Amino acid sequence: MSRSKIVLKSGKDQSLRRYHPWVFSGAIKKTYGPLTEGDLVDVEDNKGEFLGVGHYQPGSIAVRIVSFEPVEPDETFWRNRLEQAWSLRHTSGPAGAPDTNVYRLVYGEGDLLPGLIIDYYNGMAVMQFHSVGMYRLRETLAAILKDLYGDKLTGIYDKSENTLPFKADIKQKNSWLYGKAKEGEVTEYGNRFLVNWVEGQKTGFFIDQRENRRLISTLSKGKKVLNLFGYTGGFSVYALRGGAEQVHTVDSSGHAIQLSRTNVELNFGKDAPHKGIVADAFDYLETAETKYDLIILDPPAFAKHNKVLHNALQGYKRLNEKAFRRIQSGGILATFSCSQVVSREKFRQSVFVAAANAGRHVQILYQLTQPPDHPVSLFHPEGEYLKGLVLKVEGVKE
Ligand code: SAH
Repeated sequence: MSRSKIVLKSGKDQSLRRYHPWVFSGAIKKTYGPLTEGDLVDVEDNKGEFLGVGHYQPGSIAVRIVSFEPVEPDETFWRNRLEQAWSLRHTSGPAGAPDTNVYRLVYGEGDLLPGLIIDYYNGMAVMQFHSVGMYRLRETLAAILKDLYGDKLTGIYDKSENTLPFKADIKQKNSWLYGKAKEGEVTEYGNRFLVNWVEGQKTGFFIDQRENRRLISTLSKGKKVLNLFGYTGGFSVYALRGGAEQVHTVDSSGHAIQLSRTNVELNFGKDAPHKGIVADAFDYLETAETKYDLIILDPPAFAKHNKVLHNALQGYKRLNEKAFRRIQSGGILATFSCSQVVSREKFRQSVFVAAANAGRHVQILYQLTQPPDHPVSLFHPEGEYLKGLVLKVEGVKE
């Protein structure tokens, strides 16, 4: 089948030769043949050498490469890719973990499936499309998912209303491709959570913090724990599981706090030493009466793009400084950033300034990242976004 073709400017082929899967619009010299959003297109260097085939998208990222070989991406091609993703989760990932039935099945570029996210919630697959090329494949992908999981699959929900690129002339509404359940219970390392993929943030649950939650559980025994930006109470449930003396969950959303209470009750009944507090995290750190032994800071991304990087770094500094002041000597601060544009170094620098301003002596115990069901392609470092530091905090200079 002959496809339309994009030829790159001289010298702009280097990143593709190193298997980076994005072609930026500025690298394009000329386009041959008709091209509609979502079409497959061949990419060549300016001497006519084939570089890759990908999905075309008007915008800054003009092509997302799906293969560096001159292949025809047919049903078998996509099936192989999904099977590889499935197999990674089952051999070196969470699908084989004890008492765990929630994980990310597909993480875009990290799984050589650019523009596609699939989260698996105990039988429900929630798909998010970030490119029109992938969106057009949704029925094919749904059929493959049914084959992969067989009877275990109870539903497929397409949650792309807010993730498809704004240029897409598709009046996409979130909808079920199969089944209809709105929420369900999942188990993560034996901890139970109610997940509502229809109304919840992202696909319903922050799966990416699984291993970090597990670590927090081991640090919680006998501690007074504060879980800021708590959402579904994920860290709170793990802290209680680890024997925390008391856990406070803070979130600015009343709905989130309700969820955190539901999840604590689901695991530990009504009398668990847990309190859900609806408050702004910054204000709470100013006014809280309790001094905590363990504070978890897992805010939403402060920077979604580079232009606001400076403000984001200021935000991390301010937040961490307040937390350093609120923590007992000998306590632990687990602090995270999920902003892709904030590098590990820059995040660490903000936390460093925060500690210095608060006059605390700090040791790094753990440096954390995202789990193996959010794999980062070595050729696509942009896929790395989650950063965490677990810090031992001593001494106050006041
Ligand atoms: N730690 C969570 C995920 C956090 S998502 C987990 O493991 O699942 C970020 C949360 O921060 C959202 O629930 C949002 O409601 C909350 N939030 C955003 N801004 C806030 C603020 N200023 N103060 C308190 N909570 C805030």
